[in-house]
Amino acid sequence: MTRLFNNPENFPNEAAEGYLLANKRHVSGLYGGAVRATKTPENKVALVIGGGTGHYPAFAGWVGHGMADGVVMGNIFSSPSAAQAVSVAKAAERGGGVLIAFGNYAGDVLHFGDAAAQLTAQGILAKAVVTTDDIASAGPDEIEKRRGIAGWVPIFKTTGAAAERGLSFDEVEAVFHKANSRTRTLGVAFSGCTLPGADEPLFTVPEGKMAIGLGVHGEPGISEEPLGTADEVAKLLVDRLLEERPEGNDGRVIALLNGLGAAKYEEMFVTFRAVNKLLEEAGLTVVDGEVGEFATSLDMSGISLTLFWVDDELESLWNDPVDTPAYRRGSVDNAAMRDDLGELSQEPTKLEVTEKGSADSQKLASAIAETLDKVTALLDEKSAELGKLDAIAGDGDHGIGMHRGAENATVAAKRLVGDGAGAGTTLAGAGEAWSATAGGTSGALWGVLLGAAGQGVGDTDLPSDQEVASIVHQVADALLAAGGAQLGDKTMLDALLPFVDALEAEVKGEGTLKEKWNRAALVAVGAAKKTAQLSPKIGRARPLAERSVGHADPGAVSLAYIIDAIGQEL
Ligand code: ADP
Ligand code: MG
Repeated sequence: MTRLFNNPENFPNEAAEGYLLANKRHVSGLYGGAVRATKTPENKVALVIGGGTGHYPAFAGWVGHGMADGVVMGNIFSSPSAAQAVSVAKAAERGGGVLIAFGNYAGDVLHFGDAAAQLTAQGILAKAVVTTDDIASAGPDEIEKRRGIAGWVPIFKTTGAAAERGLSFDEVEAVFHKANSRTRTLGVAFSGCTLPGADEPLFTVPEGKMAIGLGVHGEPGISEEPLGTADEVAKLLVDRLLEERPEGNDGRVIALLNGLGAAKYEEMFVTFRAVNKLLEEAGLTVVDGEVGEFATSLDMSGISLTLFWVDDELESLWNDPVDTPAYRRGSVDNAAMRDDLGELSQEPTKLEVTEKGSADSQKLASAIAETLDKVTALLDEKSAELGKLDAIAGDGDHGIGMHRGAENATVAAKRLVGDGAGAGTTLAGAGEAWSATAGGTSGALWGVLLGAAGQGVGDTDLPSDQEVASIVHQVADALLAAGGAQLGDKTMLDALLPFVDALEAEVKGEGTLKEKWNRAALVAVGAAKKTAQLSPKIGRARPLAERSVGHADPGAVSLAYIIDAIGQEL
């Protein structure tokens, strides 16, 4: 249980507030997360890390000298937005570029990738890079699909040390990739975790059993086995990790035993004793060890073991001093507070109207804002249904996220309409607000969708029916490019792509746009229903694919609802 909370909705924000108050010596808060409060040299490469909340010390605990320069903080177990990442990255960057590093979760990949692209477009050297240490999340032939878990510690620690030494952007990035390629983690869970305010845990582990390879949000692992003694659990973890010993190392290893939230230090020491012995028996040299909580999952009970296979360079970087709220070692001569941070922005940047739209386009913009209002009401009504669909194989947040995104997009659209924006700017601002507030994979994708629509519509002429169809086509192309999914992967695209084809065929025929759109919308609704037959190949539902078969994809269903609602408003 999570026992201490107020309004559950405010839990992540209140936790962030308390964290900032407790760590003033290390961090300063701003929109999106926090940056170092201490001085950092000009031209230093900035390491920005991040992800969902609920994993402390990951990630906010690792901002400070020798490790990260900034942290982007999402909702509980849910990705922060690109806007948050851009805000943190800009405050953290010192002229040497920004490396944004995170654990390879679908929402994070989209939002942080988008943030890196936005920063690059603004002339800031930026790259998004992922950690992939969890050996249970995909096979050795698909390492790039693996998730990052407690391996964050050695990877971020050595990358941060490289940046602190003043290495170039390419050199720091090379250390990151080398460290990641030499880090392997496996975890076991004894009980699930409960979101603040929830009545039931996100998942359960039967009494007397342990789930092997479980992810930090309860993603399914390899198997469930009877819970053994501490020595047996240690042996299981060591044996499986040694099967994945990376090539080209001389047997030096750093072992990190991580508690997932409800493991006792003494239990972990008992286990570590066996781990150390087994590693030495295997002929390895354990050059250093760590036992403690590093990557947690709220109140989940369980542990993970990380092996970090060092060479001279990585071992030396590992030994450099570090001083962060949750991780400190050696002596750091850097208590001087930054005086150049100025007033940090506590608000996201908002798109402003630079040039008013044409009279026609302003009218269309106003109709778009009205439609968004209707869509918000509809999503409010459908929120529970969409949440249930998402809970079957995903995390259950789709309804809440879509509603929150639409609500904020409406506010942004109305503000822009009030300022005389044309339709294109209004759609772009709505997309920006949607992406910044909805969270999750679909939040990023709806941001892309509205942005692409805005670009197609523009602020001057009204699109013809043919042009409407080709704009919808461009939107689909933008989603394909951003998310990397294909037709049949069981995503919103499985409703959108058939709609594109149908609309393109319809606009060649007779009737009003409303009639044509509504006929094509029927195709979208039918295609969304048909996703029930598909098995997810991408996104959060992929690991639980079998469970999803027989149920429609939540993102496809919500998209079809919205397409239908737009038709009614035309
Ligand atoms: P999350 O999966 O991060 O919790 P949501 O639950 O809000 O995000 O949205 C899930 C939906 O996102 C899925 O049902 C699917 O339609 C859509 N989706 C996931 N990944 C992709 C992708 N790569 N391309 C297109 N749509 C995707
Ligand atoms: Mg979800």
